[in-house]
Amino acid sequence: MPEAPKSKNKPARVASAKKRLPVVAPREPVGCLTCGLCCTYIAVGIDGPLNAKAATEILWHLYHDGVSIYRDGEDEWMVQFESRCRHLLDDNKCGIYAKRPHICREYSEVSCEVNSDGTGTTFYAPDEFLNYLALNHKRIYRAISETHVPPRELLGRTQPSRRGHEPFEARFARLRAQGQAR
Ligand code: SF4
Ligand code: SF4
Repeated sequence: MPEAPKSKNKPARVASAKKRLPVVAPREPVGCLTCGLCCTYIAVGIDGPLNAKAATEILWHLYHDGVSIYRDGEDEWMVQFESRCRHLLDDNKCGIYAKRPHICREYSEVSCEVNSDGTGTTFYAPDEFLNYLALNHKRIYRAISETHVPPRELLGRTQPSRRGHEPFEARFARLRAQGQAR
């Protein structure tokens, strides 16, 4: 196990550091060894909601447990999947620090989501995103509201969480085997 504290991963959220919020009070930076947040999800760049298909794709992401959407201060969009890196140790050190991937080495605790003054927004639920769309992309919202947006009362969680369910790998293998038996 390496002794050095780890630097963290994640894509280009550093872009949001260019725009700064008014400083209300000085904040003490959060130390990586008390945090570990950026090693518990993956973020992948996606298209913003500039057409109806991209907007419904964002809705589709948000219909899934553990998935959120992030829009940074530069209007770059990402889908985020909650998933803890298997090398993140209980003391928030990296178990493969000396051999960690490029993306982890390039990530900075100065400009990370916890310590930067970035102006990004995270959407955790479909109705949060739809409210944003109705306000900022009225034409796209109108284009999908009749045909692709369920009633608001159905947008919240309607099923109990299935996070404890059998892993995908096991379900996939069982269903494949089931198919072969026919
Ligand atoms: S880089 Fe930022 S988010 Fe990642 S562990 Fe360090 S303080 Fe937390
Ligand atoms: S490899 Fe190390 S630094 Fe990279 S995400 Fe995993 S625990 Fe974090």
